[in-house]
Amino acid sequence: MVVDGRVLLDGGAPLLPHMSRVGVDPGAIEAVFLTHYHGDHTLGLPPFTLHRVFVDPRPITFVGPEGIEERLEALWDVSWGPDWKTVMRPRFHATYEVAKPSGKVAGYKYETVKLDHGTSGSNGYRIWAGGKILAYSGDTEPTAPLDELVEGADVAIVEATGPGDVFSHMSWEDAMALKKRHPKTRFMFNHVYNGTVDGAVDDFQVIEV
Ligand SMILES: [Zn+2]
Ligand SMILES: [Zn+2]
Repeated sequence: MVVDGRVLLDGGAPLLPHMSRVGVDPGAIEAVFLTHYHGDHTLGLPPFTLHRVFVDPRPITFVGPEGIEERLEALWDVSWGPDWKTVMRPRFHATYEVAKPSGKVAGYKYETVKLDHGTSGSNGYRIWAGGKILAYSGDTEPTAPLDELVEGADVAIVEATGPGDVFSHMSWEDAMALKKRHPKTRFMFNHVYNGTVDGAVDDFQVIEV
């Protein structure tokens, strides 16, 4: 997901063709918030990084859980081999920041809420954008910290992996219950592994809020 054309939330999908289809300039991304380091949230980043090294070397800040610099540098290293450190790293104007309980990046105020997800957990973020509060969960079980994340948010982008029993994730049934507990928040559910719902947004849809 991209907010304001400037903030990227996780980077699992093949980012460059997707950004091109929705008219987002990959060079204009100023901040990337990573919730956790599972592959479906990070493995679209290496080609994006290639763009930010060779095509548009503007500065960029990556915010994420503990170990962000080591994890991402290891990902770039495995992606580009010996070319990474010698040729590419010097041209990559990236800053890595371990997410603070509350902070500011690229002019956006944010708060971090630690969510329950598998062994590593996941960082949920509350981001102040255009006078509104956006809550973004990444992956999470439907436990108390998720309610804390979405409380009072104008828009919440929250995972809802599938119907029934979904290990370490949120089910559609839990998602409906969450929405009922926060009636003033506009929810967008993503991370759907199976099933379809009538009225769901299409992939690549641009939404004004
Ligand atoms: Zn995950
Ligand atoms: Zn995931």
